[in-house]
Amino acid sequence: MYAEEVAEMAGRIRDEDIALVRERTSIAEVISDTVTLKSAGGGNLKGLCPFHDEKSPSFNVSPARNVWYCFGCGAGGDAIKFLMDAEHLSFVESVERLAARAGIQLRYVEDDRSAPRPRPQQGQRQRLVAAHAAAVDFYRAQLSTAGARRAREFLAERGFDRAAAERYGCGFAPDAWDLLTKHLRQQGFTHDELVTAGLSRPSRSGSLIDRFRRRLMWPIREITGDVIGFGARKLFDDDDGPKYLNTPETPIYKKSHVLYGIDQAKREIAKQGKVVVVEGYTDVMACHLADVPTAVATCGTAFGADHISVLRRVLFDSDERAGEIIFTFDGDAAGQKAALRAFEDDQRFVGRTFIAVSPDNMDPCELRLAKGDLAVRDLVARREPLVDFALRHVINRYDLDTVDGRVEAMRRAAPLVAKIKDREKRPEYVRKLAGDLGMEIEPVQRAVLAAANGQPAGGSTAPARPAPVTPSVDSPRSMVEREALKLALQEPVLAGPMFDAVEAAEYRHPVHVAVRAAIAAAGGAATAAGGAVWIEQVRDACDDLAGQALVGELAVEPLRIDGEPDPRYVSVTMARLQWGSVTGRIKDLKSKIQRINPVSNKDEYFALFGELLSLEQHARALREQAAGGL
Ligand SMILES: [Zn+2]
Repeated sequence: MYAEEVAEMAGRIRDEDIALVRERTSIAEVISDTVTLKSAGGGNLKGLCPFHDEKSPSFNVSPARNVWYCFGCGAGGDAIKFLMDAEHLSFVESVERLAARAGIQLRYVEDDRSAPRPRPQQGQRQRLVAAHAAAVDFYRAQLSTAGARRAREFLAERGFDRAAAERYGCGFAPDAWDLLTKHLRQQGFTHDELVTAGLSRPSRSGSLIDRFRRRLMWPIREITGDVIGFGARKLFDDDDGPKYLNTPETPIYKKSHVLYGIDQAKREIAKQGKVVVVEGYTDVMACHLADVPTAVATCGTAFGADHISVLRRVLFDSDERAGEIIFTFDGDAAGQKAALRAFEDDQRFVGRTFIAVSPDNMDPCELRLAKGDLAVRDLVARREPLVDFALRHVINRYDLDTVDGRVEAMRRAAPLVAKIKDREKRPEYVRKLAGDLGMEIEPVQRAVLAAANGQPAGGSTAPARPAPVTPSVDSPRSMVEREALKLALQEPVLAGPMFDAVEAAEYRHPVHVAVRAAIAAAGGAATAAGGAVWIEQVRDACDDLAGQALVGELAVEPLRIDGEPDPRYVSVTMARLQWGSVTGRIKDLKSKIQRINPVSNKDEYFALFGELLSLEQHARALREQAAGGL
């Protein structure tokens, strides 16, 4: 597909120009616009792949060879291909973008049949971005007209001078029906292009009119700096529209991905390893001007999973180096609710999420105005972990001077502690919660354990119910680990020897690792006689709260096999368990080999290659075993 497109397009842009673009383009710079890259040794770079979801970087860039390749998902190519894949550009659009970047004037091959060559055919994306660039100029020029007095006042009242307005490209949509539309039509943009871009819309009479009128305009840029939409603030009381209007969803503007300010903030976010999420355009401006250059804001939508994936790539959020996300809220109920919802939704990020609430219920823009730049920096510096914030928020609703109030607060707070994925932190929070409530540690610990077990907190006499600990079944890999542990707990005589032979290192889920360790500490499954005594021994040997709860659960959960388990089922389960980690090791090894120069490091290269071959053999054997010898 790619090659065909090259051949087809080569008839439009001259081949030698395409070659020149490739030669003059720094692939590392192009990719760095969207992915934070770190040294991978040997002159190569690595980062988190933008084409698949991953936690450790398998996306490799070789500046010397001008290529990139992902060992995780197999995507790869040159700089042109990267733009095509990452930004959904056509081949021509990608070449044009890179040419502009490198200052190369492209020449197009003349069509020998028609003498006056038609304008080079640009892709839709390029056209929509060009229309936005023209609209930015138009709105910006309008800001100094007489009609824009209210817009200038609005900015001045919030502490933004002319230079600040310039830096963020602020503008004014005039009090007219179709001034922008006519202006852009004169520049050659078509009716359809303006509608598709979200800049104009058909009126009831059918003629084309401007989407934004009498509003202060902020251009919204994507991470590469291209303007893809606008945010528009109401200025006049007789404007009966909402306070903020944004560009609707278009082929280039996806509000679930857009982060206002990311183009200016990305370098600092990568450098400092943290990002500050604020609520509005003026807050982003205020933070940047107050020397909090890592601030971004969502545009007309709540912070969600797509925003996280954009940020993770910039933060280089991996196990090696954890990024920090700081949410600022002005202390009102809606903001706090949003913070708590983040806690509900995103367990992956809980440990690295912080909340900064302004004590006087001011947003960063108001804070800067009232108390200066230092107060804004101080707000961010005084952040507190999301978990602490959430617990405080829950506890504050109850009267802790009464026994009933304390017990109820404990019941409500326990599920939050039970949700903390970072299990090492749980005991710490149990102690903290007990301290905040003025209660003994034991009842709080019991409530947390019960909550982790899916039971109503507070020690009712309800019979133990094998409710699943949700994080334990979040992937096929986890399901297999779970099944292996069930075999060891329920059928130690049958499964013991095979189970014990597979090391704890093959398990990945932290709670599963804890249970696997407890089984070993209890003497191993092979020596166990089974029954309630064995379950108790394992539970006693487990020092992890969630692990203890899981032991009880796995002891009674039915195996995923119809009829009685047999040695073949045990063998298949253990093979599937190891298969996952072997393929992971193969992946890592391949990435390592790719970074080695086979000429100068011949010995190491062949040693690793030998290791790879034997691992692959092992993987084949496991695959056969996992198929059950069928
Ligand atoms: Zn990938």
